[in-house]
Amino acid sequence: DLRKVLMSACLRGKKVRYDGGTLVVADQIVERWRLEGRIVSVCPEVEAGMSIPRPPAEIFNGSGESVLNGEVDVIEKEGGKVTNEFLAGASIALSLCHKFDISVAVLADFSPSCGSSSIYDGSFSGQKVPGMGVTAALLREHGVLVFNQYEIAEADKALIGESV
Ligand code: SF4
Repeated sequence: DLRKVLMSACLRGKKVRYDGGTLVVADQIVERWRLEGRIVSVCPEVEAGMSIPRPPAEIFNGSGESVLNGEVDVIEKEGGKVTNEFLAGASIALSLCHKFDISVAVLADFSPSCGSSSIYDGSFSGQKVPGMGVTAALLREHGVLVFNQYEIAEADKALIGESV
């Protein structure tokens, strides 16, 4: 069996983002993965029961690791705490990795769940800071190689076992 790759559902054209939109990537490598039956897609937030659309949320004063450690919360713009939903979504993504023996993921950067290089800083002002979302942090903690939508070639190399 070909090794599978976990992808953020919004990158696969599913209208699951907080604003009901997608972030679809048109990429030949992703198309090949699709034809090879490698793609397992997940939206951690929707899997955790959050609605579409939903209020924007950001990690307040920290990163995915600090949410996993219980140090900071994920907060909606209106002030509601959604930390538990974000933790639940991350666990669902991790269980999919275990179920399908997945060690490579391509997740949508800048999301408080899926971001792997930068996330928004919690001020809801569009300011990004280096850091990971909750799902990316949990997956990396468990040895999954997490790439973003601009690193698909690197993800492909990791998937077919070459060095990256
Ligand atoms: Fe996309 Fe991840 Fe946000 Fe879901 S949680 S909409 S998969 S970036």
